[in-house]
Amino acid sequence: MKIGFPNNPRKDLVEEVEWIGKSGFDFVDLFLEEDMAVPEKIKIEKIKKIIKKYNLETVGHTGPYLQTGSPSKAIREASVKDAVRYFPIFQKLGVKYITVHGNWPFSLFSVEDGIKFQVESLTKLVREAKKYNLKIMFEPVGKKQESYEVVAKIITKVPGLHFHLDIGHSNLYGRNPVKYIKELNKELRHVHLHDNNGSEDEHLPIGAGNINWEKTLKVLKKYYDGTITLEIFAKDKEFSLTSKDKLRRMWNKL
Ligand SMILES: [Zn+2]
Repeated sequence: MKIGFPNNPRKDLVEEVEWIGKSGFDFVDLFLEEDMAVPEKIKIEKIKKIIKKYNLETVGHTGPYLQTGSPSKAIREASVKDAVRYFPIFQKLGVKYITVHGNWPFSLFSVEDGIKFQVESLTKLVREAKKYNLKIMFEPVGKKQESYEVVAKIITKVPGLHFHLDIGHSNLYGRNPVKYIKELNKELRHVHLHDNNGSEDEHLPIGAGNINWEKTLKVLKKYYDGTITLEIFAKDKEFSLTSKDKLRRMWNKL
């Protein structure tokens, strides 16, 4: 199992990756998006040097603002186009798997409509990604539409689409991450990890919310031995470093 950390896309990417490397993470989750981590501003050679210096691996993440589930075809198409312009950068930085968030139309549209809109966008993204040797993963973002059944449906309807489990997001609406792991582990390629109290997407350090970590990690370890990003949004990064050590310790003990 490998533990990684994301860059804050509102900050200088070079400095962010440097911190991730020197803090002893195994990989960087490249959040390439507005406003500081856009193709025009990314210093590819500099980033590659830091990645090499710290022997970091890379995974990729597209902008959370992409509207792949918009009722407007024009907006969906623009979102796909905006995501695709980052693909050559991901490829140059050694990325193999890229995350795309779930995205749902407003409440006058049904869940089925939301599935249809996203399946259309995701099919295009999977096709475009192939040209750069990249694979797309679908990350449910903690919306009430994203039951296990709905997520499974989207993944089945888009050949070549993989699953990204966000443990915090799958703890909302009375749901349980264990169910998603048990049912979708065959397509699981990446994990985001953070805690919450089950009612809000708080991105807390491990142990600060109500997730049963021992049980969840036990099931996860049974099926998975890949990359886990600590997606902890505490201002003080000490919390993330403590979670890194805690996760490693808990995982090794299982
Ligand atoms: Zn996430």
